[in-house]
Amino acid sequence: MERMLRGLPASPGIVAGPVHLLRWEVPDVPPRTVTEAEVPLELTRFHDAVERAQDRLRHVRDRAAHQAGPEEAMIFEVQITMLDDRALNSEVEGFIRERRSAEHAFDLVMLEWRRRFGRASAPMLRERVGDLMDLHIRVLGILLALPDSDPVDLPKGSNAILVTHDLTPSLTVQLDRDAIAAIATDEGTSTSHVAILARSLGLPAVVGLRDATTRLRGSERVVLDGTTGVLVVNPTDEEIAQAKLRAEQAAILEESLRSQAGVAAQLRGGERIFLRANVDIPEESEIAAESGADGVGLMRTEFVVLGRTSMPDEDEQYRAYRRVVDAFAGKPVVIRTFDIGGDKLPVGGFPTEPNPFLGWRAIRMCLDQPDLFLVQLRALLRAAAHGDVRILLPLVVSVDEVRRTRALIAEAARTLNERGAVFRDRVQVGVMIETPAAAVAADTFVNDADFFSIGTNDLVQYTLAVDRGNVNLAARFTPLHPAVLRLIQLTVEAGKKRGLEVAVCGEMGSQPLTAFVLVGLGIRHLSVAPRAVALMKRMLRSVSPESAKEAADAALACSTAAEAERIVRRLLQAAAYDLSPAELGLLGSETGDILGYAV
Ligand code: PEP
Ligand code: MG
Repeated sequence: MERMLRGLPASPGIVAGPVHLLRWEVPDVPPRTVTEAEVPLELTRFHDAVERAQDRLRHVRDRAAHQAGPEEAMIFEVQITMLDDRALNSEVEGFIRERRSAEHAFDLVMLEWRRRFGRASAPMLRERVGDLMDLHIRVLGILLALPDSDPVDLPKGSNAILVTHDLTPSLTVQLDRDAIAAIATDEGTSTSHVAILARSLGLPAVVGLRDATTRLRGSERVVLDGTTGVLVVNPTDEEIAQAKLRAEQAAILEESLRSQAGVAAQLRGGERIFLRANVDIPEESEIAAESGADGVGLMRTEFVVLGRTSMPDEDEQYRAYRRVVDAFAGKPVVIRTFDIGGDKLPVGGFPTEPNPFLGWRAIRMCLDQPDLFLVQLRALLRAAAHGDVRILLPLVVSVDEVRRTRALIAEAARTLNERGAVFRDRVQVGVMIETPAAAVAADTFVNDADFFSIGTNDLVQYTLAVDRGNVNLAARFTPLHPAVLRLIQLTVEAGKKRGLEVAVCGEMGSQPLTAFVLVGLGIRHLSVAPRAVALMKRMLRSVSPESAKEAADAALACSTAAEAERIVRRLLQAAAYDLSPAELGLLGSETGDILGYAV
């Protein structure tokens, strides 16, 4: 077997540890009939398996309650109760009485239930599809005596490197962080949500390994390098020593960058750049505030919902937003309304949509479910009483969506007023420019939006028609494509004409090479992963606005992204001559992604 598995760098850090192979997918069940005499035995097997699954879930629930809190533990309580469902049990028993094996009967019922729940009109039922899938896998695993690979109940303190086909965000937040040191997946790219979340959690990650789960057995030791996107299987002593050395060097670089936290974000020559942090998880906000960011440029509120059985109520949301506002004491905090759906959160039956990326998600879903949206808007207005909260709307394609949201904000304010609550309704409302429609028609938003924030992850995806999470397309996900650059240019021009702030909060702003081009296109507001703040300050301070403009002009004149990258790389190295390739994030993997993660 090849010992070097190459994937895509997704979250920095170098870790050595044992592989924990997680196969969290519904196993194949061969249809099997049993004799009449065997029916009682199959019934017993089924009930025993359910009991064992429930025992295991109780254990996981208690651990989750202890580690993460009662709300996170609820999901397991719900699953335990679902297994007691009379209708479910009697349907399985009915199939067994028709002489099907226990696993075949259970498989048939679960497939049907998942289909039925997925089509239900009540969102609460559709939300249960993920739980049904977990139960489907758990109980079949027991009935088929498959090796135990519980995703949320890993051996403690094992410093394990979790290797799995793909991780849903909700599984990721449930993972036991005392047991896992890093993540490696077959699927995914550096802008997929697993990667974003791994960076938020500070867990080193390599994604897009394609077939790591079939190549590995689950007992090997590996070195995972989240900076270059490489996994070394059964490393030699020398390879381990090298990894240690690189980890030490990375720690030194990080330490030296930390000293940058307090310096101002500005270009060579002194022009100010507003460098804010992306905060995905409220619990991370205090750490993010120490990064030296000028506030929060993007809070992805959907992460407040992850791993839960129901939407958080107004008070809970208020507390989550307030925590971020307090951590950033007085600085602007841009909070995005729920961007639920697609690859993010299967709330509301999204898994059943044939085209989730073009589906009922984000602002569309919120506007269609005003009751759900109003809860969030009220929580936001209450949090706004304590700081400079600004509201950002995702996946907007038309100014109607902004107007309808403003009407709902006014309604939320009325309710709060009647209630005598403390709130502020004069909040800025910004539009995410992350569809070609919004970019091309950016000028149609300027009278209704207070600011723009370009979401380059989706803008690249929708412009190039390249699924951002598809590993087979990773090399085609090229932010420096002329179409993308022109759309950004259009947005900047439309914003400038009206004096609107135009920020970038997608990954393009977190990578020195692409951020250099963004500055050259006129962007002065960037929102980046907290860990990238110091690195970006270093890069920004060593480039002049003129050199950035030269790079942007050169990139715009290119007909391909590859050509643009080559030229910009050269210009960046020349402009920031005092920085090393590591500091410029130019380490790169050789598998397609253009850049590595320096810190
Ligand atoms: C984006 O699309 O660039 C963005 C910042 O939002 P998300 O990554 O959450 O889709
Ligand atoms: Mg987006």
